[in-house]
Amino acid sequence: MNQKTLPENYELITCPVCGADDFKVIDERTIDKNLLCSVACLRCSHVFLNPRAKAEVYEAYYQRGFSKEFNAIGEHVDPYEQVKGNAAKTERILRFLKPELRNGLRVLEIGCGYGNILAALRDRYDATVTGIEPDPAAREVAKKAFNIDIVFESFENFIGGYQGDTYDVILLHHVLEHMLHPDEAVSRFSGLLKPGGFVYIGVPNITALTFPKKMFFRFPHVSNFTPFSLELLLSMYGLKIVRRDDFQKPLSVIAVAQSSERTLVSWGPIVARSFPLGRVKRAILFSHIYHSIRLFIRDHIRPLFPRWMKDFVKRLLKKKI
Ligand SMILES: [Zn+2]
Repeated sequence: MNQKTLPENYELITCPVCGADDFKVIDERTIDKNLLCSVACLRCSHVFLNPRAKAEVYEAYYQRGFSKEFNAIGEHVDPYEQVKGNAAKTERILRFLKPELRNGLRVLEIGCGYGNILAALRDRYDATVTGIEPDPAAREVAKKAFNIDIVFESFENFIGGYQGDTYDVILLHHVLEHMLHPDEAVSRFSGLLKPGGFVYIGVPNITALTFPKKMFFRFPHVSNFTPFSLELLLSMYGLKIVRRDDFQKPLSVIAVAQSSERTLVSWGPIVARSFPLGRVKRAILFSHIYHSIRLFIRDHIRPLFPRWMKDFVKRLLKKKI
């Protein structure tokens, strides 16, 4: 696709991780009239949308109320139910963060949504919290549900009024994959860390899809990280990963300044699953097939069996365990 055949309001970009302009198309689909052409970088195997809708298209998209669209909730559905629904996820993230936490931390969360994590850190760890959230509806819920004032709409808006504050903790839970310029963002926020501070990043893992491809590839996910491309991006801008969750799942990592004495996590399993491109494509195909079968059984096979039979099998499996 060249500049002349581009859909309106789309542009061709270079790899947002390594800057290379060599790439291979690995998936193409249209969702809600938006073209989603996923390519893999031939240098670092990062997967990203290219061509990609222009910045103003995404700006309008988030202003329309991303959280409603994302959670498929209509005007008549109470967003406070979503706050309750986020409780289990919040506890999972806090369990992962726990070894790093102490009282009185200064915390910045980029893309804080309804503010569940910030509220928990403020209430349990006496943290001073600052949130950034582009969705006006989510900011309103954060204020009403948790009394958190979110005055920054975007990271650019935050940087524009930056007063020189530094932070012990910077959180990005499923946010980096939405950023049009993750390289610039990492470069900026790594400079906001206090000595001894850490960054938590959670992103979907393209080498371990959690759904079939048609549900995994999404318009707001302009980047799809592999363990390798996430590590590469962070290391290019002064950070190193010192703790990680299981790489078979969405990626969760703790990163610190490269000057820190903490030990970098092993690269072995990262490279083995997510570089070079052939391995990435195989991992995508494998998890796509696995989840297609899983959903087919859930939606078409399981309903064929009566309730008593399912309960019986469940009890049988429990006894085994
Ligand atoms: Zn690249």
